[in-house]
Amino acid sequence: MHRLLCFFPSKSNPLKNPISPFRNLPIFRTENPTRSPLRPATGFGLHPSVPTPPNRSPLSRFHLVSTNLSSLIHSTGGTRRFSGESGGREALHYDVVIVGAGPAGLSAAIRLKQLCRARNTDLSVCVLEKGSEVGAHIISGNVFEPRALDELIPCWRDEGAPIEVPVSHDKFWLLTENRALSLPSPFDNKGNYVISLSQLVRWMATKAEELGVEIYPGFAASEILYDEDDKVVGVATNDMGVAKDGSKKETFQRGVELKGHITLLAEGCRGSLSEKIIRDYKLRDKGQGQHQTYAIGIKEVWEIEEGKHVPGTVLHTVGWPLDMKTYGGSFLYHMNNRQISIGLVIALNYRNPYLSPFDEFQKLKHHPAIKSLLEGGSVLQYGARTLNEGGFQSIPNPVFPGGAIIGCSAGYINVPKIKGTHTAMKSGMLAAEAAFNVLDGGAQMEMYWDSLKRSWIWEELYRSRNYRPAFEYGLIPGLAFSALERYVFRGRLPLTLKHGKPDHEATDIAGVHTPIQYPRPDGRVSFDVPTSLYRSNTNHEHDQPAHLRLRDPTIPERVNLPLYAGPESRYCPARVYEYVPDEKHGMKLHINAQNCLHCKACDVKDPKQNIEWTVPEGGGGPGIKMHSSGQPIR
Ligand SMILES: Cc1cc2nc3c(=O)[nH]c(=O)nc-3n(C[C@H](O)[C@H](O)[C@H](O)COP(=O)(O)OP(=O)(O)OC[C@H]3O[C@@H](n4cnc5c(N)ncnc54)[C@H](O)[C@@H]3O)c2cc1C
Ligand code: SF4
Repeated sequence: MHRLLCFFPSKSNPLKNPISPFRNLPIFRTENPTRSPLRPATGFGLHPSVPTPPNRSPLSRFHLVSTNLSSLIHSTGGTRRFSGESGGREALHYDVVIVGAGPAGLSAAIRLKQLCRARNTDLSVCVLEKGSEVGAHIISGNVFEPRALDELIPCWRDEGAPIEVPVSHDKFWLLTENRALSLPSPFDNKGNYVISLSQLVRWMATKAEELGVEIYPGFAASEILYDEDDKVVGVATNDMGVAKDGSKKETFQRGVELKGHITLLAEGCRGSLSEKIIRDYKLRDKGQGQHQTYAIGIKEVWEIEEGKHVPGTVLHTVGWPLDMKTYGGSFLYHMNNRQISIGLVIALNYRNPYLSPFDEFQKLKHHPAIKSLLEGGSVLQYGARTLNEGGFQSIPNPVFPGGAIIGCSAGYINVPKIKGTHTAMKSGMLAAEAAFNVLDGGAQMEMYWDSLKRSWIWEELYRSRNYRPAFEYGLIPGLAFSALERYVFRGRLPLTLKHGKPDHEATDIAGVHTPIQYPRPDGRVSFDVPTSLYRSNTNHEHDQPAHLRLRDPTIPERVNLPLYAGPESRYCPARVYEYVPDEKHGMKLHINAQNCLHCKACDVKDPKQNIEWTVPEGGGGPGIKMHSSGQPIR
């Protein structure tokens, strides 16, 4: 119990409390008609006749060259401005620049424009998205609590929101190798829906555009822009058309600066810019927050046989295939159209370096109670993503000079509920309200932090704060403590448990564990990595600078391989990291960066924090796509 019980929460009293050329930024016209450097790269397996989604930028009607930018200003009539910049980069000026078109970023954009309408004013708002389309990097299959959406778009039911399947059954099983023991469900999903989050954000993007928000899919924000007082004044996209060796290709194009009076970072879990801002402005210390803890979620969408599909059924499991000391569990949600979303979430503070989250997931699907459901079905999608599990204890002060961090980049997931969409949306709305008041009425962005602490996000996260750290003591003590918290103390226990070691420090050296032999995939229920990668549609332009950077290139061979048996070759769900024979009969690390799923597990779990995940050329990465019917396509 030396893991610190502190008798009052450290925070203030909480309960008081191109594919299509039409999607290009209007900066340069490419000289190369075959592939615009401003076009996002397509993933292999993408069908060229995929209809352009309705998230196209309103700039679509302009094919502008840099000398013709002023016509755009006059044509659109907004407050956005353009200017030439030093260093050959063009700049676009907005009132608010939002990085990331997930639930948080889009909620912020929508709220800002709603406030503009209500107060009869106008602010220019843009959203940058690194996926080739809105939703391309958002893995589907989600139990959605509509609380925030009810506040944001109260009439969503009449506006075609893709939220159609209410939760009908809520099951919770403890798995042993061959049995499934039913337990009382702690999830309380009454009033929630089983949705595809990827579809929901596409719908939200159309709502944002109707209000005048400009959305730029296929553009990754790679750099923060500061003024001379170290205040953030926007972001820049990375240069396109740069070769692996740093030389400029024929398609070279300078990045673009997007300057904003306010910048909102909505990059989701472990956002690369957000992490830098949290570090540089010491926001975790400022918010009296502990380090963040993470899990990796590995997920597939299946189409199963008709008779086995019960829309709205939600199942969560704990136990097998994970050992008693590794925190995690699986989920299985029945969506519509005979589709189910199945996944395994594993906390990244696992100790055994031989553990492979991908193979644990394959093993899970062979449990007799699960295999029978999947047999006869087929996989439509594969994806992986980290999620933050630090909850209340890990919230940083999300406000920095010139902007704020919203959604999972700050970390508002309610761990016992396994839900962060509603809190991400609400945080975006609160930040938008603060930003509007800053721009319209001279308020301070700190208003967001204050209103966050008075909001239901804070209350929710406070009540559930002890759930995750209780599992530091193992599965059974964790279940017992969380049942007490939930049913007896109801979040009012006057103590706040602290998290254990940061995830990267939790990995044991290999010598104290024996290697895990995973069964070979059978090709019907379980699959190998290349097959799964094909289903993720992931791809990156091959000839570009590495987006996975080793701070010290000698550490993999000097430390990771001899001490930890090369854990990156197992925790990465895309087998990006491989140890291969070198010229001197040793082993060296080879990085297949083009397979990356943007899950960010390597950024979190590398024992020496030697891997830095940076954004690749915009448009690279996974490609979750939907037919207009809502069916995913491969
Ligand atoms: C396996 C798994 C299961 C989950 N299940 C549920 C569930 O059932 N219910 C629930 O409520 N929540 C669930 N969650 C959590 C939920 O997905 C998140 O809380 C939510 O998506 C957070 O929204 P966000 O907008 O903060 O970030 P995200 O949804 O991650 O969106 C961030 C967006 O920003 C883009 N982006 C990132 N960096 C950049 C950059 N530098 N430049 C441009 N674009 C960028 C990304 O491509 C992405 O589109 C689950 C999460 C996982 C991983
Ligand atoms: S390289 Fe890193 S971010 Fe990419 S899939 Fe592997 S672990 Fe995830």
